[in-house]
Amino acid sequence: MVRSSRLALNAYELVEEVKSGSISVEDYIASILERIESIDKRINAYITINHHALDEARIMDKMVKSSSSNSNGYRSTLLGVPLAVKDNISTEGIRTTCSSRMLEDYVPVYDATVVKRLKGAGAIVIGKTNMDEFGMGSTTEFSAFGVTHNPWDEERVAGGSSGGSAASLASCMASIALGSDTGGSVRCPASFCSIYGLKPTYGLLSRYGLISYANSLECIGLMARSAVDLALMLNAVVGSDMQNDHTSIDSSIDIKSINSTSLKGMRFAIVREIIESDAIDEPVRDSMLDAIASVEQLDAVVEEVSLPSLRYALASYYTIAMAEASSNLARYDGIRYGYTLQPDGVAWNEFYSTIRSNFGSEVKRRIILGTYVLSSGYYGRYYMKAQKARAIIRDEIMHVLRSYNAIITPTMPVLPPRIGERISDPLRLYTIDICTVIANLAGIPALSIPYSMHNGLPIGIQFMAKHLDEALLLRIAYALEYARGSRVKRCVL
Ligand code: GLN
Repeated sequence: MVRSSRLALNAYELVEEVKSGSISVEDYIASILERIESIDKRINAYITINHHALDEARIMDKMVKSSSSNSNGYRSTLLGVPLAVKDNISTEGIRTTCSSRMLEDYVPVYDATVVKRLKGAGAIVIGKTNMDEFGMGSTTEFSAFGVTHNPWDEERVAGGSSGGSAASLASCMASIALGSDTGGSVRCPASFCSIYGLKPTYGLLSRYGLISYANSLECIGLMARSAVDLALMLNAVVGSDMQNDHTSIDSSIDIKSINSTSLKGMRFAIVREIIESDAIDEPVRDSMLDAIASVEQLDAVVEEVSLPSLRYALASYYTIAMAEASSNLARYDGIRYGYTLQPDGVAWNEFYSTIRSNFGSEVKRRIILGTYVLSSGYYGRYYMKAQKARAIIRDEIMHVLRSYNAIITPTMPVLPPRIGERISDPLRLYTIDICTVIANLAGIPALSIPYSMHNGLPIGIQFMAKHLDEALLLRIAYALEYARGSRVKRCVL
Protein backbone atom coordinates (compact mmCIF):
# COMPACT_ATOMS: atom_id res chain seq x y z
CA MET A 1 0.00 0.00 0.00
CA VAL A 2 1.15 3.56 -0.60
CA ARG A 3 0.82 6.41 1.89
CA SER A 4 -2.48 8.21 1.45
CA SER A 5 -0.80 11.54 0.69
CA ARG A 6 0.65 9.91 -2.42
CA LEU A 7 -2.85 9.47 -3.84
CA ALA A 8 -2.79 13.20 -4.57
CA LEU A 9 0.19 12.88 -6.92
CA ASN A 10 -0.27 14.31 -10.38
CA ALA A 11 -0.31 11.70 -13.13
CA TYR A 12 3.04 12.84 -14.54
CA GLU A 13 4.63 12.50 -11.08
CA LEU A 14 3.13 9.07 -10.58
CA VAL A 15 4.45 7.89 -13.95
CA GLU A 16 7.95 8.98 -12.95
CA GLU A 17 7.71 7.09 -9.67
CA VAL A 18 6.41 4.00 -11.39
CA LYS A 19 9.16 4.09 -13.98
CA SER A 20 11.84 4.55 -11.36
CA GLY A 21 10.45 1.61 -9.44
CA SER A 22 9.64 3.54 -6.25
CA ILE A 23 5.90 2.80 -6.55
CA SER A 24 4.40 -0.38 -7.95
CA VAL A 25 1.27 0.00 -10.05
CA GLU A 26 -0.34 -2.83 -8.12
CA ASP A 27 0.19 -1.03 -4.79
CA TYR A 28 -1.07 2.24 -6.16
CA ILE A 29 -4.21 0.79 -7.74
CA ALA A 30 -4.89 -1.27 -4.61
CA SER A 31 -4.65 1.90 -2.50
CA ILE A 32 -7.01 3.75 -4.82
CA LEU A 33 -9.51 0.88 -4.62
CA GLU A 34 -9.21 0.89 -0.85
CA ARG A 35 -9.89 4.61 -0.73
CA ILE A 36 -12.96 4.13 -2.91
CA GLU A 37 -14.11 1.40 -0.57
CA SER A 38 -13.77 3.67 2.44
CA ILE A 39 -15.11 7.04 1.18
CA ASP A 40 -17.26 6.51 -1.88
CA LYS A 41 -20.27 5.58 0.24
CA ARG A 42 -20.35 9.28 1.10
CA ILE A 43 -19.28 10.82 -2.23
CA ASN A 44 -21.02 8.41 -4.66
CA ALA A 45 -18.66 9.17 -7.53
CA TYR A 46 -18.63 5.65 -8.95
CA ILE A 47 -21.47 3.52 -10.30
CA THR A 48 -19.35 0.50 -11.27
CA ILE A 49 -15.82 -0.52 -10.33
CA ASN A 50 -13.56 -2.33 -12.79
CA HIS A 51 -12.84 -5.58 -11.02
CA HIS A 52 -9.96 -6.35 -13.36
CA ALA A 53 -8.06 -3.18 -12.41
CA LEU A 54 -5.69 -5.02 -10.06
CA ASP A 55 -4.92 -7.72 -12.61
CA GLU A 56 -4.20 -5.03 -15.18
CA ALA A 57 -1.92 -3.31 -12.66
CA ARG A 58 0.10 -6.48 -12.19
CA ILE A 59 0.55 -6.73 -15.95
CA MET A 60 1.78 -3.12 -15.99
CA ASP A 61 4.33 -3.89 -13.29
CA LYS A 62 5.69 -6.71 -15.39
CA MET A 63 5.95 -4.33 -18.33
CA VAL A 64 7.89 -1.84 -16.22
CA LYS A 65 10.33 -4.55 -15.27
CA SER A 66 10.97 -5.54 -18.85
CA SER A 67 13.34 -2.94 -20.21
CA SER A 68 11.74 -2.92 -23.66
CA SER A 69 8.58 -1.22 -22.42
CA ASN A 70 10.60 1.46 -20.63
CA SER A 71 12.08 2.58 -23.89
CA ASN A 72 8.64 2.79 -25.51
CA GLY A 73 7.86 6.47 -24.84
CA TYR A 74 4.37 6.59 -26.31
CA ARG A 75 2.96 3.61 -24.54
CA SER A 76 4.26 4.69 -21.21
CA THR A 77 3.16 8.32 -20.96
CA LEU A 78 0.35 7.34 -18.59
CA LEU A 79 1.85 4.16 -17.25
CA GLY A 80 -0.23 2.85 -14.37
CA VAL A 81 -2.34 6.01 -14.02
CA PRO A 82 -5.81 5.37 -12.51
CA LEU A 83 -8.48 6.63 -14.89
CA ALA A 84 -12.15 7.32 -14.06
CA VAL A 85 -14.55 7.13 -17.02
CA LYS A 86 -17.94 8.81 -17.20
CA ASP A 87 -20.69 6.24 -17.51
CA ASN A 88 -21.79 7.32 -21.00
CA ILE A 89 -18.45 6.34 -22.54
CA SER A 90 -18.25 2.71 -23.66
CA THR A 91 -15.85 0.38 -21.90
CA GLU A 92 -15.44 -3.18 -23.12
CA GLY A 93 -16.83 -5.64 -20.62
CA ILE A 94 -17.68 -2.96 -18.03
CA ARG A 95 -21.30 -1.93 -17.53
CA THR A 96 -22.14 1.47 -19.03
CA THR A 97 -25.46 2.81 -17.76
CA CYS A 98 -25.62 6.54 -18.64
CA SER A 99 -27.02 6.73 -15.08
CA SER A 100 -30.29 5.46 -16.51
CA ARG A 101 -32.57 2.55 -15.63
CA MET A 102 -32.88 2.18 -19.40
CA LEU A 103 -29.28 0.94 -19.70
CA GLU A 104 -28.95 -0.54 -16.23
CA ASP A 105 -27.55 -3.85 -17.50
CA TYR A 106 -25.82 -2.72 -20.66
CA VAL A 107 -22.28 -4.04 -21.09
CA PRO A 108 -20.53 -2.71 -24.23
CA VAL A 109 -18.52 -5.09 -26.36
CA TYR A 110 -15.95 -2.47 -27.35
CA ASP A 111 -13.97 0.43 -25.90
CA ALA A 112 -14.62 4.00 -27.02
CA THR A 113 -11.69 5.24 -29.11
CA VAL A 114 -10.52 7.62 -26.37
CA VAL A 115 -10.61 4.84 -23.77
CA LYS A 116 -8.68 2.56 -26.08
CA ARG A 117 -6.05 5.23 -26.66
CA LEU A 118 -5.65 6.07 -22.95
CA LYS A 119 -5.32 2.38 -22.14
CA GLY A 120 -2.75 2.17 -24.93
CA ALA A 121 -0.77 4.89 -23.17
CA GLY A 122 -0.82 2.84 -19.96
CA ALA A 123 -3.85 4.19 -18.05
CA ILE A 124 -5.93 1.76 -15.98
CA VAL A 125 -9.71 2.14 -15.91
CA ILE A 126 -10.74 2.21 -12.24
CA GLY A 127 -14.46 2.46 -12.80
CA LYS A 128 -17.43 4.23 -14.31
CA THR A 129 -18.61 7.47 -12.82
CA ASN A 130 -21.95 8.91 -11.89
CA MET A 131 -23.62 11.55 -14.05
CA ASP A 132 -26.94 13.17 -14.83
CA GLU A 133 -29.00 10.68 -16.81
CA PHE A 134 -27.80 10.75 -20.45
CA GLY A 135 -25.81 13.91 -19.62
CA MET A 136 -28.90 16.04 -19.05
CA GLY A 137 -28.25 18.32 -16.11
CA SER A 138 -25.67 20.44 -14.32
CA THR A 139 -25.63 18.91 -10.84
CA THR A 140 -25.55 15.06 -11.07
CA GLU A 141 -28.83 15.05 -9.17
CA PHE A 142 -30.73 13.55 -12.13
CA SER A 143 -29.11 10.13 -11.79
CA ALA A 144 -30.86 6.82 -11.29
CA PHE A 145 -27.96 5.94 -8.96
CA GLY A 146 -28.30 8.81 -6.49
CA VAL A 147 -26.60 12.19 -6.24
CA THR A 148 -22.82 12.71 -6.21
CA HIS A 149 -21.60 14.79 -3.26
CA ASN A 150 -19.00 17.53 -3.60
CA PRO A 151 -15.81 16.46 -1.78
CA TRP A 152 -15.21 20.08 -0.67
CA ASP A 153 -18.60 20.27 1.05
CA GLU A 154 -20.59 17.08 1.03
CA GLU A 155 -23.90 18.91 1.39
CA ARG A 156 -23.36 20.50 -1.98
CA VAL A 157 -23.49 19.17 -5.53
CA ALA A 158 -20.34 18.25 -7.41
CA GLY A 159 -21.73 19.82 -10.61
CA GLY A 160 -22.76 17.95 -13.70
CA SER A 161 -23.29 16.19 -15.72
CA SER A 162 -19.78 14.66 -15.29
CA GLY A 163 -20.05 15.06 -11.49
CA GLY A 164 -18.69 11.62 -10.60
CA SER A 165 -15.56 12.12 -12.71
CA ALA A 166 -14.80 15.49 -11.11
CA ALA A 167 -15.52 14.25 -7.59
CA SER A 168 -13.31 11.19 -8.10
CA LEU A 169 -10.35 13.48 -8.87
CA ALA A 170 -11.10 15.98 -6.11
CA SER A 171 -11.21 13.17 -3.56
CA CYS A 172 -8.18 11.25 -4.89
CA MET A 173 -10.17 8.24 -6.08
CA ALA A 174 -8.51 8.54 -9.53
CA SER A 175 -5.72 10.65 -11.08
CA ILE A 176 -7.27 11.52 -14.45
CA ALA A 177 -10.83 11.30 -15.75
CA LEU A 178 -12.98 11.40 -18.85
CA GLY A 179 -16.22 13.32 -19.10
CA SER A 180 -18.44 14.56 -21.88
CA ASP A 181 -19.39 18.14 -22.58
CA THR A 182 -22.52 19.06 -24.53
CA GLY A 183 -23.10 22.43 -22.90
CA GLY A 184 -20.62 22.52 -20.05
CA SER A 185 -20.71 19.09 -18.45
CA VAL A 186 -16.95 18.79 -18.11
CA ARG A 187 -16.27 22.41 -17.15
CA CYS A 188 -19.11 22.84 -14.64
CA PRO A 189 -18.11 19.97 -12.33
CA ALA A 190 -14.43 20.82 -12.86
CA SER A 191 -15.17 24.32 -11.57
CA PHE A 192 -17.27 23.11 -8.61
CA CYS A 193 -14.62 20.54 -7.62
CA SER A 194 -11.45 22.64 -8.14
CA ILE A 195 -9.89 20.64 -10.96
CA TYR A 196 -9.17 21.25 -14.67
CA GLY A 197 -11.80 20.45 -17.28
CA LEU A 198 -11.10 20.74 -21.00
CA LYS A 199 -13.78 20.73 -23.66
CA PRO A 200 -11.78 20.33 -26.87
CA THR A 201 -12.56 21.67 -30.34
CA TYR A 202 -15.60 19.91 -31.80
CA GLY A 203 -14.31 16.86 -33.68
CA LEU A 204 -10.79 16.86 -32.22
CA LEU A 205 -11.51 13.78 -30.12
CA SER A 206 -13.37 10.86 -31.57
CA ARG A 207 -16.92 10.42 -30.24
CA TYR A 208 -16.91 6.74 -31.18
CA GLY A 209 -18.27 4.93 -28.15
CA LEU A 210 -19.85 8.00 -26.56
CA ILE A 211 -23.57 7.42 -26.06
CA SER A 212 -25.27 10.30 -27.83
CA TYR A 213 -27.22 13.11 -26.23
CA ALA A 214 -26.89 16.01 -28.72
CA ASN A 215 -24.40 15.18 -31.47
CA SER A 216 -23.86 18.63 -32.98
CA LEU A 217 -22.80 20.07 -29.62
CA GLU A 218 -21.01 17.38 -27.70
CA CYS A 219 -17.40 16.35 -27.23
CA ILE A 220 -15.57 13.97 -24.95
CA GLY A 221 -13.65 16.09 -22.46
CA LEU A 222 -10.59 15.63 -20.30
CA MET A 223 -10.28 16.19 -16.55
CA ALA A 224 -7.12 16.33 -14.44
CA ARG A 225 -5.47 17.95 -11.42
CA SER A 226 -2.67 19.67 -13.36
CA ALA A 227 -2.07 21.37 -16.70
CA VAL A 228 0.71 18.92 -17.56
CA ASP A 229 -1.60 15.96 -16.94
CA LEU A 230 -4.16 17.45 -19.30
CA ALA A 231 -1.48 17.81 -21.96
CA LEU A 232 -0.42 14.17 -21.47
CA MET A 233 -4.02 13.04 -21.83
CA LEU A 234 -4.62 15.17 -24.90
CA ASN A 235 -1.47 13.89 -26.57
CA ALA A 236 -2.63 10.34 -25.99
CA VAL A 237 -6.15 10.77 -27.42
CA VAL A 238 -5.89 13.16 -30.40
CA GLY A 239 -5.78 11.86 -33.94
CA SER A 240 -8.32 11.13 -36.60
CA ASP A 241 -10.79 8.28 -36.22
CA MET A 242 -12.63 8.92 -39.45
CA GLN A 243 -13.65 5.31 -40.03
CA ASN A 244 -15.64 5.30 -36.76
CA ASP A 245 -16.71 8.95 -36.37
CA HIS A 246 -17.21 11.04 -39.49
CA THR A 247 -17.01 14.29 -37.54
CA SER A 248 -13.53 13.40 -36.29
CA ILE A 249 -10.94 15.81 -37.66
CA ASP A 250 -7.50 14.88 -38.81
CA SER A 251 -5.37 17.34 -36.99
CA SER A 252 -2.11 17.19 -35.21
CA ILE A 253 -1.86 19.91 -32.61
CA ASP A 254 1.37 20.91 -31.00
CA ILE A 255 1.02 20.52 -27.28
CA LYS A 256 4.61 19.96 -26.41
CA SER A 257 5.68 23.43 -25.42
CA ILE A 258 3.18 24.47 -22.75
CA ASN A 259 5.58 25.15 -19.92
CA SER A 260 6.02 28.88 -20.22
CA THR A 261 5.33 30.97 -17.13
CA SER A 262 4.64 34.21 -18.97
CA LEU A 263 1.63 35.22 -21.04
CA LYS A 264 3.50 37.95 -22.83
CA GLY A 265 2.06 38.88 -26.19
CA MET A 266 -1.36 37.40 -25.43
CA ARG A 267 -4.54 39.41 -25.75
CA PHE A 268 -7.59 38.43 -23.75
CA ALA A 269 -11.19 39.64 -24.06
CA ILE A 270 -13.66 39.96 -21.22
CA VAL A 271 -17.35 40.19 -22.04
CA ARG A 272 -19.28 43.25 -20.90
CA GLU A 273 -22.64 41.42 -20.83
CA ILE A 274 -21.17 38.84 -18.43
CA ILE A 275 -19.33 41.25 -16.15
CA GLU A 276 -22.41 43.43 -15.80
CA SER A 277 -24.87 40.56 -15.44
CA ASP A 278 -26.56 40.28 -12.07
CA ALA A 279 -26.68 36.51 -12.62
CA ILE A 280 -23.03 36.37 -11.52
CA ASP A 281 -22.64 35.86 -7.76
CA GLU A 282 -20.43 38.38 -6.01
CA PRO A 283 -17.62 35.98 -4.93
CA VAL A 284 -17.48 34.65 -8.50
CA ARG A 285 -17.24 38.16 -9.93
CA ASP A 286 -14.45 38.99 -7.46
CA SER A 287 -12.59 35.88 -8.46
CA MET A 288 -12.90 36.75 -12.14
CA LEU A 289 -11.57 40.27 -11.52
CA ASP A 290 -8.70 38.75 -9.61
CA ALA A 291 -7.99 36.37 -12.51
CA ILE A 292 -7.93 39.33 -14.89
CA ALA A 293 -5.36 41.03 -12.64
CA SER A 294 -3.33 37.80 -12.53
CA VAL A 295 -3.08 37.44 -16.30
CA GLU A 296 -2.18 41.12 -16.57
CA GLN A 297 0.63 40.52 -14.10
CA LEU A 298 1.82 37.75 -16.39
CA ASP A 299 2.07 40.39 -19.13
CA ALA A 300 -1.13 39.65 -21.05
CA VAL A 301 -3.37 42.48 -22.28
CA VAL A 302 -7.04 42.37 -21.27
CA GLU A 303 -9.77 44.38 -22.99
CA GLU A 304 -13.54 44.53 -22.79
CA VAL A 305 -15.72 43.42 -25.72
CA SER A 306 -19.45 43.12 -26.27
CA LEU A 307 -21.32 39.95 -27.28
CA PRO A 308 -24.88 41.21 -27.80
CA SER A 309 -26.15 37.82 -29.01
CA LEU A 310 -25.25 36.22 -25.68
CA ARG A 311 -28.83 36.68 -24.54
CA TYR A 312 -29.96 34.11 -27.12
CA ALA A 313 -27.34 31.54 -26.13
CA LEU A 314 -29.29 29.56 -23.52
CA ALA A 315 -32.50 29.45 -25.55
CA SER A 316 -30.62 28.43 -28.68
CA TYR A 317 -28.60 25.78 -26.84
CA TYR A 318 -31.53 24.20 -24.99
CA THR A 319 -33.77 24.16 -28.07
CA ILE A 320 -31.13 22.44 -30.21
CA ALA A 321 -29.99 20.08 -27.42
CA MET A 322 -33.54 18.94 -26.67
CA ALA A 323 -34.37 18.49 -30.35
CA GLU A 324 -31.33 16.29 -30.88
CA ALA A 325 -31.97 14.43 -27.62
CA SER A 326 -35.54 13.57 -28.58
CA SER A 327 -34.29 12.09 -31.82
CA ASN A 328 -31.31 10.24 -30.28
CA LEU A 329 -33.31 8.73 -27.44
CA ALA A 330 -36.00 7.35 -29.75
CA ARG A 331 -33.84 4.23 -30.07
CA TYR A 332 -34.66 3.16 -26.49
CA ASP A 333 -37.91 1.49 -27.42
CA GLY A 334 -37.57 -1.89 -25.75
CA ILE A 335 -36.77 -3.57 -29.06
CA ARG A 336 -33.44 -2.35 -30.30
CA TYR A 337 -31.66 -1.16 -27.18
CA GLY A 338 -31.77 -1.20 -23.44
CA TYR A 339 -34.45 -2.17 -20.98
CA THR A 340 -37.16 -4.43 -22.31
CA LEU A 341 -40.20 -6.52 -21.35
CA GLN A 342 -41.88 -9.70 -22.56
CA PRO A 343 -44.31 -8.21 -25.07
CA ASP A 344 -46.68 -11.22 -25.05
CA GLY A 345 -50.28 -10.18 -24.73
CA VAL A 346 -49.45 -6.53 -24.15
CA ALA A 347 -50.82 -3.93 -26.57
CA TRP A 348 -48.13 -2.00 -28.42
CA ASN A 349 -49.00 1.36 -26.84
CA GLU A 350 -48.88 -0.11 -23.39
CA PHE A 351 -45.58 -1.90 -24.10
CA TYR A 352 -43.97 1.28 -25.43
CA SER A 353 -45.26 3.48 -22.60
CA THR A 354 -44.08 1.03 -19.95
CA ILE A 355 -40.62 0.88 -21.51
CA ARG A 356 -40.32 4.64 -21.91
CA SER A 357 -41.51 5.35 -18.38
CA ASN A 358 -38.11 4.09 -17.25
CA PHE A 359 -36.58 7.41 -18.20
CA GLY A 360 -36.21 9.88 -15.35
CA SER A 361 -38.26 13.08 -15.16
CA GLU A 362 -35.67 15.41 -16.70
CA VAL A 363 -35.06 13.13 -19.67
CA LYS A 364 -38.82 12.84 -20.24
CA ARG A 365 -39.21 16.61 -20.10
CA ARG A 366 -36.52 17.03 -22.74
CA ILE A 367 -37.90 14.33 -25.04
CA ILE A 368 -41.33 15.98 -24.92
CA LEU A 369 -39.99 19.51 -25.49
CA GLY A 370 -37.58 18.30 -28.18
CA THR A 371 -40.35 16.50 -30.03
CA TYR A 372 -42.47 19.65 -29.82
CA VAL A 373 -39.84 21.99 -31.28
CA LEU A 374 -39.28 19.59 -34.17
CA SER A 375 -42.94 19.04 -34.95
CA SER A 376 -44.37 20.43 -38.16
CA GLY A 377 -45.90 23.82 -37.51
CA TYR A 378 -43.40 24.63 -34.73
CA TYR A 379 -40.17 23.63 -36.45
CA GLY A 380 -39.65 27.04 -38.07
CA ARG A 381 -40.72 28.93 -34.99
CA TYR A 382 -38.32 27.17 -32.59
CA TYR A 383 -35.78 24.79 -34.07
CA MET A 384 -34.89 26.82 -37.17
CA LYS A 385 -34.80 30.02 -35.16
CA ALA A 386 -32.44 28.40 -32.65
CA GLN A 387 -30.14 27.35 -35.49
CA LYS A 388 -30.12 30.91 -36.87
CA ALA A 389 -29.32 32.29 -33.42
CA ARG A 390 -26.52 29.72 -33.13
CA ALA A 391 -25.00 30.99 -36.40
CA ILE A 392 -25.11 34.59 -35.17
CA ILE A 393 -23.53 33.67 -31.82
CA ARG A 394 -20.78 31.71 -33.55
CA ASP A 395 -20.05 34.61 -35.92
CA GLU A 396 -19.82 37.06 -33.03
CA ILE A 397 -17.47 34.81 -31.08
CA MET A 398 -15.28 34.20 -34.10
CA HIS A 399 -15.15 37.92 -34.73
CA VAL A 400 -13.85 38.52 -31.18
CA LEU A 401 -11.34 35.68 -31.50
CA ARG A 402 -9.87 37.25 -34.62
CA SER A 403 -8.54 40.08 -32.42
CA TYR A 404 -7.95 38.19 -29.16
CA ASN A 405 -6.25 34.93 -28.22
CA ALA A 406 -8.89 33.97 -25.67
CA ILE A 407 -12.08 35.07 -23.94
CA ILE A 408 -12.16 34.98 -20.12
CA THR A 409 -15.37 34.31 -18.17
CA PRO A 410 -16.23 32.62 -14.91
CA THR A 411 -16.97 28.94 -15.64
CA MET A 412 -20.10 28.95 -13.50
CA PRO A 413 -21.89 32.10 -12.37
CA VAL A 414 -22.60 30.61 -8.93
CA LEU A 415 -20.87 28.69 -6.15
CA PRO A 416 -21.72 24.96 -5.94
CA PRO A 417 -25.40 24.85 -4.93
CA ARG A 418 -26.67 22.84 -1.98
CA ILE A 419 -28.12 19.47 -2.89
CA GLY A 420 -31.79 19.94 -3.78
CA GLU A 421 -31.50 23.72 -4.07
CA ARG A 422 -31.89 24.01 -7.85
CA ILE A 423 -33.58 20.91 -9.24
CA SER A 424 -37.16 21.83 -8.44
CA ASP A 425 -37.06 24.65 -10.99
CA PRO A 426 -35.62 23.46 -14.33
CA LEU A 427 -35.44 26.92 -15.91
CA ARG A 428 -33.47 28.24 -12.97
CA LEU A 429 -31.15 25.27 -13.28
CA TYR A 430 -30.62 25.86 -17.01
CA THR A 431 -29.52 29.48 -16.41
CA ILE A 432 -26.30 28.44 -14.66
CA ASP A 433 -24.97 27.18 -18.00
CA ILE A 434 -24.81 30.70 -19.46
CA CYS A 435 -21.01 30.91 -19.71
CA THR A 436 -20.37 27.34 -20.86
CA VAL A 437 -22.90 26.76 -23.67
CA ILE A 438 -21.25 29.39 -25.88
CA ALA A 439 -18.23 27.19 -26.63
CA ASN A 440 -20.45 24.27 -27.66
CA LEU A 441 -22.59 26.44 -29.92
CA ALA A 442 -19.41 27.72 -31.62
CA GLY A 443 -17.49 24.40 -31.52
CA ILE A 444 -14.44 26.08 -29.97
CA PRO A 445 -12.20 24.72 -27.19
CA ALA A 446 -12.74 25.90 -23.62
CA LEU A 447 -10.93 25.15 -20.39
CA SER A 448 -12.04 25.58 -16.79
CA ILE A 449 -9.09 26.36 -14.51
CA PRO A 450 -9.36 25.96 -10.73
CA TYR A 451 -8.69 29.50 -9.60
CA SER A 452 -9.75 30.26 -6.06
CA MET A 453 -11.87 29.33 -3.04
CA HIS A 454 -14.59 31.24 -1.26
CA ASN A 455 -15.42 29.95 2.23
CA GLY A 456 -13.96 26.60 1.23
CA LEU A 457 -15.93 26.40 -2.02
CA PRO A 458 -14.09 26.22 -5.36
CA ILE A 459 -14.38 28.80 -8.14
CA GLY A 460 -13.24 28.05 -11.69
CA ILE A 461 -12.33 30.50 -14.44
CA GLN A 462 -13.01 29.67 -18.08
CA PHE A 463 -10.81 30.48 -21.08
CA MET A 464 -12.21 30.00 -24.61
CA ALA A 465 -9.96 30.03 -27.68
CA LYS A 466 -10.07 29.59 -31.45
CA HIS A 467 -10.68 26.19 -33.03
CA LEU A 468 -7.70 23.88 -32.44
CA ASP A 469 -5.97 26.32 -30.09
CA GLU A 470 -5.89 23.81 -27.20
CA ALA A 471 -2.13 24.36 -26.81
CA LEU A 472 -2.75 28.00 -25.99
CA LEU A 473 -5.33 27.06 -23.33
CA LEU A 474 -2.86 24.65 -21.77
CA ARG A 475 -0.16 27.32 -21.74
CA ILE A 476 -2.52 29.66 -19.88
CA ALA A 477 -3.35 26.87 -17.43
CA TYR A 478 0.30 26.14 -16.84
CA ALA A 479 1.24 29.78 -16.33
CA LEU A 480 -1.61 30.35 -13.87
CA GLU A 481 -0.89 27.11 -12.02
CA TYR A 482 2.69 28.24 -11.60
CA ALA A 483 1.69 31.76 -10.55
CA ARG A 484 -1.02 30.67 -8.10
CA GLY A 485 1.15 27.96 -6.54
CA SER A 486 -0.21 26.40 -3.38
CA ARG A 487 -3.07 28.92 -3.13
CA VAL A 488 -5.25 26.58 -5.18
CA LYS A 489 -5.85 23.13 -3.79
CA ARG A 490 -7.04 20.53 -6.24
CA CYS A 491 -8.04 17.68 -3.98
CA VAL A 492 -9.25 16.88 -0.47
CA LEU A 493 -7.42 14.11 1.34
N1 GLN B 1 -26.36 21.35 -18.36
C1 GLN B 1 -26.39 21.19 -19.78
C2 GLN B 1 -27.58 20.34 -20.17
O1 GLN B 1 -28.25 19.91 -19.32
C3 GLN B 1 -25.14 20.59 -20.30
C4 GLN B 1 -25.04 19.13 -20.15
C5 GLN B 1 -23.86 18.52 -20.83
O2 GLN B 1 -22.90 19.22 -21.19
N2 GLN B 1 -23.95 17.22 -21.06
O3 GLN B 1 -27.85 20.09 -21.31
